Formats: sequence, C-alpha cells, structure tokens
Amino acid sequence: MRDFLGQPSLKKYFKIETIATFIALLLISGVSLFSLNKAIALSNAIVETALTEIHGTMSLRLALNRSAMPVNDYIIRAGEDEKINYIALRDETDRQYKALATTVKNRADLSETLNQSLAAWNNAKKLANAIMLIPEPIGNSHAAEQMEAFDALIDQGTDLLSEIYDEIYKDTVKSHDRLHEIESQSTILVVLLSITGLAIAVFGSIQLARIFFPPLNRIMAGVRLYGRGNLDHRITNDMPVELDELTHGINDMAGKLDDIYSELRKSSYRDSLTGCHNRRKLDEDILAAYSLANRSDEALTVLMLDLDYFKRVNDTYGHAAGDSVLLTAAEIIRSQLRKHEFLYRYGGEEFVVILPATKAADAIILAERIRTCVANKKMDVGSSSPVTVTVSIGIADNSQAGNSIKEMIDLADKALYAAKEEGRNRVHVAT
Ligand code: GH3
Ligand code: MG
Ligand code: MG
Repeated sequence: MRDFLGQPSLKKYFKIETIATFIALLLISGVSLFSLNKAIALSNAIVETALTEIHGTMSLRLALNRSAMPVNDYIIRAGEDEKINYIALRDETDRQYKALATTVKNRADLSETLNQSLAAWNNAKKLANAIMLIPEPIGNSHAAEQMEAFDALIDQGTDLLSEIYDEIYKDTVKSHDRLHEIESQSTILVVLLSITGLAIAVFGSIQLARIFFPPLNRIMAGVRLYGRGNLDHRITNDMPVELDELTHGINDMAGKLDDIYSELRKSSYRDSLTGCHNRRKLDEDILAAYSLANRSDEALTVLMLDLDYFKRVNDTYGHAAGDSVLLTAAEIIRSQLRKHEFLYRYGGEEFVVILPATKAADAIILAERIRTCVANKKMDVGSSSPVTVTVSIGIADNSQAGNSIKEMIDLADKALYAAKEEGRNRVHVAT
C-alpha cells in the first residue's frame, strides 16, 4: 500500500478507499439486479407456459373428448339434436387446434406431435360425418364398427395431446429447477461480493487507522512537551503528507518560539546601559553558586563595588556624561575578570562580582587591580578635560557567612560601607 502510494497521503487514501467501496457496491447492485431480472424473466416464462401451452393442451384435450360424446349419443339415441351439438363442439375443437398450433409454432417437436393429433381428429371428423348420416344407427352393426374406429381416432388424438402435455410439463419442471439454480447462484455471488465489499471497507479503515494514529500520537506527545515548555523538542516526521505539513508547521512554530524565548531570556538578564548582567540574573546565579559551593565544600566570594561621589559627576557634567562614566567603569571592571566571572549591576552605580572557588583573602588582589584600573582611567565625557572616578570595594566570603546568601551580601555591603567610611577608593574585607 505504502509503495504503491509513495508518501502516503490521507486525501489520496480516502479517494482510493471510497472508489473501491463504490465499485464493490456497484458490483453487488449490478449482480443483484441482473439475477433478479433473469429470475423474473424465467418465472414469467414458466407462468406464461402454464397459462398458454399447458392450459391450451388441457383445454383441447377436453374439447376433443366432448366432441366425441354427441356422436356416441347419436348411436344410442339417434336424436337429431346430437348433430347440432356435435357441429358446435367440433367447431370449438377446430378453433382450439388452431390456437394451440399458434402457441407452439416455434417448437418443432411439439408442432409435429400436434399435427399428428390434428390428422387423427380430421380422420375422426370424416367418420363422425359418415356416422351422423346413418338413418337407423341404433343396433346397427356397421354403425357400431364405424363408432369403434371413431373412438380409436379420438383416443389417438388425445394420447398425442397427452404427450405434448408431458413434454411441456417436463420443460416447465426444468425451468423451475433452473430458477432455483439461479436463485442459489445469485445468493452465493451477492454474499461473496458483500463480504468482499465489507472486507474492503474494514481493511481500509484499519489501514487508515494505522497510517493516521501513530503520527497523530507523536504529534500529540510533542505538543504536550511544548506545553510543558520543552521547546527544543522536535517531532519526527515520516508520515502522511498532510500530517507532515502539520508537523513541519508545529516544529517551525516551536523553533521560532524557542528563539524568541531565549532572546527574551537573554535580554531580561541584561542591563541595557552597561551590558552587564542585571539584578535578576544575579539572584539566580548567586543562588546556584552558593548551593554548588556548599555542596562541594568550596569557597565563594562576592565583591560589592560602588563608584565614589558619583552624584558629583552627574551634577558637574550632566546625566549623559554620568551614563558614559558608568559604562566605561563597567567595561574596565569587566576587563579584569576571567571568562567565567561575571559583573552584575546591582543598582545605580553599584556592582557585584561573584568569584567561585575563591577565598576573600585571595580576592583582594583582583579587587585592588580593579580599583587601580578605574582610578587610573581618564574617562572622556565630551567636555574639554577627561574625568576620573574612583571605586570602593567590599569583600565577603561564605566562610564568614555560612548561613545564607543574604548574610554574605549584607557582609559585603557592610565591608563596602566600611571602605567608604575609611575614605573611599579602597578595598575592605569583611571580618
Ligand atoms: P558615595 O561615594 O557615598 O557612593 O556617593 P555617591 O554620590 O556615589 O552616592 P549617592 O547614593 O549619593 O549617589 C548616587 C548617584 O548615582 C545618584 C544617582 O543620580 C546616580 N545614578 C544612579 N544610577 C544612575 C544612572 O543610571 N545614570 C546616571 N547618570 N546616574 C545614576
Ligand atoms: Mg551607591
Ligand atoms: Mg556611590
């Protein structure tokens, strides 16, 4: 089925299935109609034979026997009225011979037998005429002889008619048997065709289910995964073209959603002015770093940085210059960090650095380097003379604050406050 169809298509499949079922139904109706017509034609023929040939033969036989009666009566009673009776019955018999001849004219064997019967009747008529002319028939031995010959001819005529009747009867029985044969043949044929039609329909439905449901289940499972946010999943295709298109559509949609989602995630983690990670990202990362450090029993240090007298920069050079200084300061700090160390904008002109696997004492070197670099940088703010700013840095690690991240941040904040108190542009380690 699959090879024949190439890539299976539901539309194509439905078409084939419908045509096959239609042909089966057409065949069933055709054969039924044909058999019915044949059976009706045969039944009609049987009824017609019964009405015309059988009835005609029986009726003629009766007429022939009746015609003999007035002749016999004439010999016994010599009544003149017998002659009148005879003429009427004779004419009726003649008429029936003609009628039956017309009915069986297409059947050579029957016509032949009928002609022989008619010949006997014609000879009987001649004798009847002769008998009716005998003036004193009662007790007349010649008349009795003639009468015997007459009766023999009548018997011959009726016997031949009986032969015709037997022949027609045999034919009718044969037709009747044939009718039964057609009936059983048509029944078998219609039953077989019906079973075939039903089998086509059932096979088609099963095949359709086999083509349709496994891919549909795959699509549904995929869509459920997307619903749970698993957007990097892709539904495998190799299915009917229509479902294939649907799958492509869903996969493309998921891909686009995935791209948009990761883009959104990225931008939601960034500070738009400095390009640093933002507070939201800090909250997530510091939690992860803190748990990892706790689990692996490693050191973790945070630096809290705040630009000194930054308000003055804004006040002196304007807010735009302040932004530019913030950006330059962030770049300088970032340039001192290693690849896996990140700078977070904590808020305003405050920043945080997370240092995994680092003790507070070891972080002093980095903090000092940052402080020096910032202090030494002459920052261009668009006015005639470049600006310099300094930074104060507070340091705390998890050995001092083993209980929570918040405690560690608070300690770093206190250390920063201490650095400010001590005169700014300096590094202070929490104790
Ligand atoms: P200290 O040495 O005590 O930290 O003094 P400071 O002036 O730096 O501290 P203060 O908290 O008094 O002022 C911080 C200023 O930073 C105030 C605010 O206008 C400025 N600021 C905060 N965020 C931004 C920003 O995004 N752009 C600019 N240009 N200024 C900002
Ligand atoms: Mg501040
Ligand atoms: Mg400040």
